[in-house]
Amino acid sequence: MSMPSAVARRIKSSACFFICLLMLFFVFQARGAAGEIPDIIYYNGRIITLDKSEKIVEAVAVLNGKFLAVGKDAEIRKLAGSATRMVDLGGKTVVPGLIDAHTHPVETMYLSSDFVNCRYPGVPSVKQALRNITDSVKTAKKGAWIFAACVSASQTKFTEKRMPTLAELDSVSSDNPLVVLDGTHLFVANSKALEALGVKKGMTKLPHGGGIVLDKEGNPNGTLTDAFADVPSKLTPAQLAHFFTTDIQKFWNSYGFTSILGITQGDVVPVLQKVASGGYKPTLRYSMSVWKAANGEDMPDDLSVFAFPAGTDPDYYRFTGIKAWVDGENDARTGLMNSPYLGHKDTDPVGGKGSQVTSLNQAVRLAQIAQKNGVICMLHCSGDKAMDIGMNAYDTICAAGKPKHLFRIEHFGVFQMSANQLDRAVKLYKEGLRISVQPTWLLILAKSDIEDMGLERASTGFRFRSMVDAGIEPAAGTDVTGVYLENTNPMKAIYATVTRNSDAGKFGPEQALTVTEALKMWTIWAALSMGEEKLKGSIEPGKFADMVVLSADVLSIPPEQLINVKALKTIVAGNIVYEAK
Ligand SMILES: [Zn+2]
Repeated sequence: MSMPSAVARRIKSSACFFICLLMLFFVFQARGAAGEIPDIIYYNGRIITLDKSEKIVEAVAVLNGKFLAVGKDAEIRKLAGSATRMVDLGGKTVVPGLIDAHTHPVETMYLSSDFVNCRYPGVPSVKQALRNITDSVKTAKKGAWIFAACVSASQTKFTEKRMPTLAELDSVSSDNPLVVLDGTHLFVANSKALEALGVKKGMTKLPHGGGIVLDKEGNPNGTLTDAFADVPSKLTPAQLAHFFTTDIQKFWNSYGFTSILGITQGDVVPVLQKVASGGYKPTLRYSMSVWKAANGEDMPDDLSVFAFPAGTDPDYYRFTGIKAWVDGENDARTGLMNSPYLGHKDTDPVGGKGSQVTSLNQAVRLAQIAQKNGVICMLHCSGDKAMDIGMNAYDTICAAGKPKHLFRIEHFGVFQMSANQLDRAVKLYKEGLRISVQPTWLLILAKSDIEDMGLERASTGFRFRSMVDAGIEPAAGTDVTGVYLENTNPMKAIYATVTRNSDAGKFGPEQALTVTEALKMWTIWAALSMGEEKLKGSIEPGKFADMVVLSADVLSIPPEQLINVKALKTIVAGNIVYEAK
């Protein structure tokens, strides 16, 4: 072998090696550092990522249910392999999968299927409500419980400006126990129901924390406050399992939701645990928060009973928190306030300042249990006094050392919020306080807030601009329970948040948020409030490939049109799980 040809061969082979290296480099470049080929590419979209830089991209690549890459059409499309499925978004606007950060999935299915419909405005009066109940009583089995659903604040909405009375309920149902819900915080029961619940003269509390309102002579007047844990449920395990595997996910997916923080009664948990451990993969990610008695009294010290069994897929099922109610709710005039509600209704708890359900000590105990078990404590606080009690409880937790886990106040500042309370929340936020709010209520409760509290107090509610500017990142939740199914539509909430339109006209227009901020309430801030911001809430490589394709470009349409925007496609783990007809 001559020298020159050996050198030439060596040069040739090293050139070959170099070219091969270069080719490999380009292949790896195109397929990501790990050389991964996406399962699916969605392209030709206007994709609002809501990442830190708030960038808008055209395409996303998905691998194993997570985003692999996001960017311009050209750069993402070249990642495709021969088996990659290509989906044209047709230029549509896409946002991260929506997260309902406070909701009641089981109650929603139960109330919407099984309850007599007495919902305003379809049912405008007590008179009509009684007629509807009478029709149901006729076909009910003797002795069976009958439940009727009225929307929140019906005591201000019905023509008669009150709820039906005990005597009226007795006149339509003397043999069947009957309970009429005013939202979910105030019930009016007939004599049969009071008897079945063991309510007697002079009694003010039910065994699971519900309150009993008495007349001047000390007799129960039919009104029960926060008695949801005391009233029997007719649901069977089979019905519950059906809810979790069919109805719930279908319903939330149809509004663009891909995750919920579902709040549920402890007895329901074994059914969901069974569904989850059986390997069932839902189209909605369930993060669950559990309540026992309304005041948290019977919450066990060891919460492992609520955890999902080993082997359950944590991408779909998580045990996230525990909940108690510090008070009722201002729309039922049961939210705990420092000063009384205006006027008087027969359904008002004694003193006219609402009702306290959970004491400071009980709230502290619940927060301690949550910290010890590594889950989120959720305290429902509606009235200004309840918010103080909630924050006092968390101050006690913080005084014992830096909290290890998040803790939340539900409905923070929705009805009332003083400047001092906002300051306190900002300080607590740094220790792990997260808040959830319900913007949709602007559309249905602003008017009753003004009637019940007066304009000055009512105007301290719904101050989302102040919250966002103070940096406390409010998470939005529908808080839907089935008394008002339309509340589930997040676009209604976004419309109200941006336009400040309410059932009492423009409500504090200076408190309006931008569309991007309103979207963050339902995505990244919702994820933050659940401690899941590394997994979801924005469209970024590594996060779950959850998205919604919208019917309009929410960033450019006139704000008044936001209410008409619909979810066209809901995508979970890269797969289309809902498509509008
Ligand atoms: Zn709720």
